[in-house]
Amino acid sequence: MGGFCSYCERRGFHAALAVEHIKDKDTYPEFKFSWGNFLLSCTNCNSIKSTKDIDGVLLPDRDNTYVVFIYLESGFIQVKPGLNGEKKRKAQALINLVGLDRVPNRRGIQVMILYG
Ligand SMILES: [Zn+2]
Repeated sequence: MGGFCSYCERRGFHAALAVEHIKDKDTYPEFKFSWGNFLLSCTNCNSIKSTKDIDGVLLPDRDNTYVVFIYLESGFIQVKPGLNGEKKRKAQALINLVGLDRVPNRRGIQVMILYG
């Protein structure tokens, strides 16, 4: 997959990759070692997602999240304008799930600066 985070698509964090459990291993121990439950993720997205539920969320391994987001040069990610209905709601839910709209130094959220 390369050195990309499945959620934020940022690269350059080879030393900070995490194996993210789509269904968290505390709530769903039966999926702890299930290959289909793993995603490569940066530690930021993995930590923010934590044990949050994935119901009603677009997931990068199942849905083409590239077509629902705009990846700005500033590093911010937004839902594409013109997206409507359920797809818009699920795309926004993914932004909320892993904090794709996080801002550096905002209280409660730490962001690692990544170079690649
Ligand atoms: Zn990430």
